[in-house]
Amino acid sequence: MSNLPNIPSNKKCWQQLNKLVFSEQVLCPLCHQSLQENYRQRYVWCSHCRKKYRPTSYRGSWLYGMKISPRQLFILLWCWQMRKSAEATVLKAEVSYTTSGRWFARFRRQLPETGVLLDGIVQVDESYFGKQRFKQTQHIVAGAKDPSTGQIALRITDSRGQEPLERFVQDVIRPGSLVVTDKWWAYDELPLLGYSHEGWNHSKGQFAGTNQGENIWSVSKRHARKLFGGRILTKHLTVLCEEWMARANQPQFFNSPIEFLRFTLVPC
Ligand SMILES: [Zn+2]
Repeated sequence: MSNLPNIPSNKKCWQQLNKLVFSEQVLCPLCHQSLQENYRQRYVWCSHCRKKYRPTSYRGSWLYGMKISPRQLFILLWCWQMRKSAEATVLKAEVSYTTSGRWFARFRRQLPETGVLLDGIVQVDESYFGKQRFKQTQHIVAGAKDPSTGQIALRITDSRGQEPLERFVQDVIRPGSLVVTDKWWAYDELPLLGYSHEGWNHSKGQFAGTNQGENIWSVSKRHARKLFGGRILTKHLTVLCEEWMARANQPQFFNSPIEFLRFTLVPC
């Protein structure tokens, strides 16, 4: 397990937040003079305007009401970005499972919509989520991946039928593209919808064509297990699919805690 990177002290993290929200020089939003720090009370204030500000509540920030320390916020963000397990996150950030789960959900809500239209050579595959032996509902997720860019599209179809899979292909892949699938019959009529189609036979060991498509599942399944154990519920799966699309299509949100905050905090 990789260790924590150099996440700075609480005070440094708090100062980082101030820089993100009140500009690199930490200036008063009204008169643009330097703001004074009151770290103990966690606010900055303008001696000219006689007003105080908090980086976590300025302008309806999504950090509003934050009860964890600034350093804990950075650690939680890092653990989420690095796909750390629930256990590891709780240990590193020194928060409860509930708190860590709530913050991960809060991070996910800041992600932008990441719908993509894939083209060129696109691999399509379906996979089951949820285990029958835990008496859970099993879900079927359809996935498409452009191996040249790494971009992906996912949809919970709960079916391997022709109609939902064709609709998925039409919604996420540009006509004229080459769609590579396994030999599942539901894809047989893609040429009638304007796509080139290549089917590989898994049972005969022809995996080469769909290897990338299957990588979507191995990484995502390991991640889901680390976060929720074997119990992947419908609500988990919905948000996880959105997160996996964001990870593939908007990787800049997952580079570092500071970058994530730079994208999502509203600067003054
Ligand atoms: Zn001022």
